[in-house]
Amino acid sequence: MRIETISVHAGRTVDSATGAVTPPIHLTTTFEREADGEYPKGYNYSRNNNPNRDSLEKCLAALEGGETAAAFSSGSAAAMSIFQSLTPGDHVILSDDIYHGTRKLIKQFDKWGIKSDFADMTNVSKLKSAVKKNTKIVWVETPSNPLLKIIDLKKVSDLVHQTSAVVVCDNTWATPVLQSPFEFGVDMILHATTKYIGGHSDVLGGGVISKINNEIFQRIIEIQKTGGAVPSPFECWLTLRGVQTLPVRIRAQSESAMQIAEFLNKHKSVSKVYYPGLPKHPGHPLASMQMTLYGGMISFEVKGGKKEAMKTASKVKLFTRATSLGGPESLIEHRASVEGDDTKTPQNLLRLSIGLEHPDDLINDLEQALSN
Ligand code: PLP
Repeated sequence: MRIETISVHAGRTVDSATGAVTPPIHLTTTFEREADGEYPKGYNYSRNNNPNRDSLEKCLAALEGGETAAAFSSGSAAAMSIFQSLTPGDHVILSDDIYHGTRKLIKQFDKWGIKSDFADMTNVSKLKSAVKKNTKIVWVETPSNPLLKIIDLKKVSDLVHQTSAVVVCDNTWATPVLQSPFEFGVDMILHATTKYIGGHSDVLGGGVISKINNEIFQRIIEIQKTGGAVPSPFECWLTLRGVQTLPVRIRAQSESAMQIAEFLNKHKSVSKVYYPGLPKHPGHPLASMQMTLYGGMISFEVKGGKKEAMKTASKVKLFTRATSLGGPESLIEHRASVEGDDTKTPQNLLRLSIGLEHPDDLINDLEQALSN
């Protein structure tokens, strides 16, 4: 099946009790036990599982072509479950330009004896020199956040598989429509379904998808069920509804982003554009091979410094000044001030999440905001 068909159908069945085409929301915390003590329908308590979560997990696994998936209450909870599957003494390497929340999260694990390093994985030899005997996870985000670096998933996977570590790819920005990390050798995929997969800026969520239902994944499932950072039935239902339009949304967003990146690239008040669809982007050839389109996220630097960037953001009328990404409405964000004191993001950088408005309207808005 193609991704469009999977998006519409995976995890969904006509309700056998009523014939409802759209699945019902099972707002129950608990399930009846038979007289013999069994749970013949497979559910006992909604922290352990629930029909809506089951549907979403089946769908996430199908979207990425993995054997199995686990849904969480946020992308960060999903990432945390992966780190919690480690043991004191283990080591993690993460690509240097990743979602700042993941950077902060892994640092929390220092005190539990799980050390981490960051490497510029656009250069695989830098990764090679960072790998240690106790490295258990190599964490890749491509395109990266917020500098849209492109990392070669096959080269990274080939290198890491010479060791006992596994490769995890945060595929939130690319989505399963634009990039299939398992095809390049990645072992596990993370999604903040809060973003493109949910797609409507109305539901937090996360997912871990595993290529094989292996021992690490079983540890993650155990953490999911015992720790309980799980999405509610309604949140699963909303996310699953969002998935149905994912391919058409992300393609429209990518096409608009390309036009907007080209516009910014020519603008006299813009000093740099980070978008892998632009031929001058250093990751363009690799992105063209690894992705089907270049995504809906753009970063750009305004000529000047923080003041000029803030001024541009203050003048937008159609873009909304807000964090996050992947929704129908376009967002603009001064990323450095959101990331905090330890940020490495340039102070004159603005990040755009391109929504589903007409690209000409978005370009007109940026034009007026960038004018003096
Ligand atoms: N991964 C990426 C690439 C993200 O952009 C985000 C959030 O912005 C996350 C993970 C975390 O997701 P959540 O906010 O649902 O915890």
